[in-house]
Amino acid sequence: MQEISIQTPESSYKVHIANTLPKISHKSKVLIVSNPKVAGLHLQSLLANIQAKEVYVCVIPDGERYKTMQSVESILECAFTHRLDRNSCFVAFGGGVVGDIVGFAAGIFQRGVSFIQIPTTLLAQVDSSVGGKTGINNHFGKNLIGLFHQPKAVYANLSFLQTLDSREFSAGVAEIIKMAVCFDETFFEFLEQNDLSDFKHLQYAVAKSVEIKARVVNEDEKEKGIRAALNYGHTFGHVIENLTHYSSFLHGECVAIGMNMANRLAYKLNLLQDSQCARIEKLLERYNLPTRYKISNCAEFYEKFFLDKKSKDSQLTFILPQGLGGVQIRNDIDKGVIMEVLGEFSK
Ligand code: NAD
Repeated sequence: MQEISIQTPESSYKVHIANTLPKISHKSKVLIVSNPKVAGLHLQSLLANIQAKEVYVCVIPDGERYKTMQSVESILECAFTHRLDRNSCFVAFGGGVVGDIVGFAAGIFQRGVSFIQIPTTLLAQVDSSVGGKTGINNHFGKNLIGLFHQPKAVYANLSFLQTLDSREFSAGVAEIIKMAVCFDETFFEFLEQNDLSDFKHLQYAVAKSVEIKARVVNEDEKEKGIRAALNYGHTFGHVIENLTHYSSFLHGECVAIGMNMANRLAYKLNLLQDSQCARIEKLLERYNLPTRYKISNCAEFYEKFFLDKKSKDSQLTFILPQGLGGVQIRNDIDKGVIMEVLGEFSK
C-alpha cells in the first residue's frame, strides 16, 4: 500500500493506494452513496470492510446528466430520514460524478460533515477524488455550483478497476497524461515506454499522478494559481462537452481532444515544438483517445469559452504546456491566434 499526504491550511488526509480495500471505521453513522452499477458490482465488498455505528446506503442514478441538485437533494433526504448528524460521515463510492456530488452534499449537510472518497474509476482515482473540489452542473454549464470540501481520507483500490470498461479506463489515462505533460517529463517518457494495461505500470502511474496532484493541491488548494494548470485541455474540452450535450464523448475524451487543441495553440506561441505535439497526440491515440473534433462554427465555439469558470472579467484563460513537463497559465492570448487554432479544427 502507498500513502500520499494532502496538507491544506485547514485539513490533512491521506490517499491510500492499494490493491485491496482496507478496513474503514467510523464511530458514528455512515451514509454510503453510490449508483446502481457500482453498487451492483462492488457494494458487498465495501460493506464487508466498513465498521460504523450504523451504515446506510443511498443509490443515485448513474451518469453526468444526474450530476444535479436533484441528486444532492435525494442524498440529503436520505441523510435526514436516517437522522444523520454532524458526527456522521458520507462515503462517496463511485466515479468522479458520485465523488463530486457526494462531496458537495457532505459540504452543505448541516453546514458540513466529513466524507470519505472511495473512487472506483481510474479518472477518479488519479484526479477527482483528491483535492476537495466538489460540485454539480446546471443548464448553464458544468461544475458551476460547488465548494471546496476536503475528504477525510481517500481509498483508491485498484482492483475495482477490473470491472471498468476500456473506454472509461482510457478516459482516466487522459488525465494521467495531462499530469505528465504539465508537470513531469520523466513521467511522460515512462508513459511512452510502458503500457498501463500492465498492472505494475498502472500502479506506478496512479501513485505518480496522485503525487503530482497532491503537490499542486498542497501548494494551491483554492486554485489561485498553479492548481489551474490541472485544467490543461479543459478550456477546449468543456466547450466540446457543452456542444455535444455531454453525450458523444466522456469527460476524459473531451480533455484528450482539448489537450490536442491546447497543444496547437502552444505551438503557435512557440511554447511547444511540433514534434512534442506529435508525441502527446501519439500517446493519447495509443489508448484510443480521440484527439480531433470537427468544429462547425468557430465563432460559436469561441463564445462558449466564456462559460468557463476560469474566464474572469471576460478574459479567457488557457493552460498551455511549455515543452514537456512545464506549463503556463495564460490570459493574454490574441483572439486572432485562438481563432486560427479553431480554424485548423474546422477543416
Ligand atoms: P463517472 O463517475 O460517470 O463514471 C463513469 C462510468 O463508470 C459510470 O457509468 C460509472 O457507473 C461506471 N463505473 C464506476 N466505477 C466502475 C467500476 N469499478 N466498474 C465498472 N463501472 C464503473 O465518470 P468519471 O470519469 O469517473 O468522472 C467524471 C466526472 O469527474 C466529471 O463529472 C468531472 O467533472 C469530474 N471531475 C472532477 C474533478 C475534481 O477535481 N473534482 C476532476 C476531474 C473530473
